[in-house]
Amino acid sequence: MNKEPVNRELFDDVMVPNYAPGTIIPVRGEGSRVWDQEGREFIDLQGGIAVSCLGHSHPGLVGALQEQSEKIWHLSNVMTNEPALRLAKTLCDLTFAERVFFANSGSEANEAAFKLARRYSWEHFGPEKHEIISFRNAFHGRTLFTVSVGGQAKYLEGFEPGPGGIHHAEFNDLETVKKLISKEKTCAVVIEPIQGESGVVPADPEFLKGLRQLCDDNNALLIFDEVQSGMGRTGHLYAYQMYDVVPDILTSAKGLGGGFPISAMLTTASIATSLGVGTHGSTYGGNALACAVAQKVVDTVSQPDILKGINKRSGHLRKGMMDIGERYGVFSEVRGAGLLLGCVLTEKWQGKAKEFLNAGLEEGVMVLVAGADVVRLAPSLIIPDADIDEALVRFEAAVKKLVA
Ligand SMILES: *Cc1c(COP(=O)(O)O)cnc(C)c1O
Repeated sequence: MNKEPVNRELFDDVMVPNYAPGTIIPVRGEGSRVWDQEGREFIDLQGGIAVSCLGHSHPGLVGALQEQSEKIWHLSNVMTNEPALRLAKTLCDLTFAERVFFANSGSEANEAAFKLARRYSWEHFGPEKHEIISFRNAFHGRTLFTVSVGGQAKYLEGFEPGPGGIHHAEFNDLETVKKLISKEKTCAVVIEPIQGESGVVPADPEFLKGLRQLCDDNNALLIFDEVQSGMGRTGHLYAYQMYDVVPDILTSAKGLGGGFPISAMLTTASIATSLGVGTHGSTYGGNALACAVAQKVVDTVSQPDILKGINKRSGHLRKGMMDIGERYGVFSEVRGAGLLLGCVLTEKWQGKAKEFLNAGLEEGVMVLVAGADVVRLAPSLIIPDADIDEALVRFEAAVKKLVA
């Protein structure tokens, strides 16, 4: 086995250069704390970008993984397996959904959602009704279809031609959707209830209600991409429950596996019939190991006391960040919901979010960015209060150095 020591420099020698990771290499984590190769300790407010929703090395998740690993890891989709069936049943019990498709990443869940929407419309209304409406600055993944539906042109640059029939409206502006939607052509409208990657921007409740109505009026399916906003992030199992607007299709990933790759597309029984036998598939989707871990995540996060705790922690973290923002004049606003927070940089600091991330690392706290103007936080949903306090102390030290 290759046990040669490795460091950050090796990245440039052996990895495709599509990422620019920092110099620190974390090797161990427990709860909301992480240690690097040198034994330096960090408080993790990144949560693996809203993935590690129960922190690192959660005993329940480790137990679920170990237990399933000694039974059976994988079966082809020619077979079904117990963990997948149980997880699908649980997700249906806890949401609007009646049918579930499992995949391995957010992109794949969205790919399945977009394909299902097209297929459903094709079956019920004919091939003309295939257009998808999404929103500027939206993020739906990196496959060619999902990146085309996403609202950031730079991610498609040089990869064209992408699939056709995709239109982009303005987020939180119903009039721009009205101009694009039609009974004849639109098969689906897809939206992140809270835009994550582009700055943690929550949809207005009235806007989502308006979208639901527009979709109903035009026989179009409403798809919520809850890859980032789901699995407890907002203090509700899914953000649609907070908004009280029910989609036709919902995608879930990131937090769903708590760090084990798994995603799901949820929908109703009648829509699901359009993905008949042989129309779509995935080798790993519904993998027994992944479903066993996700089951533990869902069982844990959906407990009322855990969900309530998220709002309490949110208030604590939000207030702390607002205080720092005011004291040093760095944030104009802290927005988002639950434990998906975006600290919006003041004019003077715009474009410099990455500097806050780097300064944080120097002081032992890991934060994220969402674009160049927003410092994003997506910590463990069960981060201890003491870790929030310590993270705030460290982040304040980082800001103090930055503004000096
Ligand atoms: C992260 C993300 C995706 C993509 O998920 P992958 O697992 O990277 O494919 C899609 N949609 C949203 C809203 C996301 O935040």
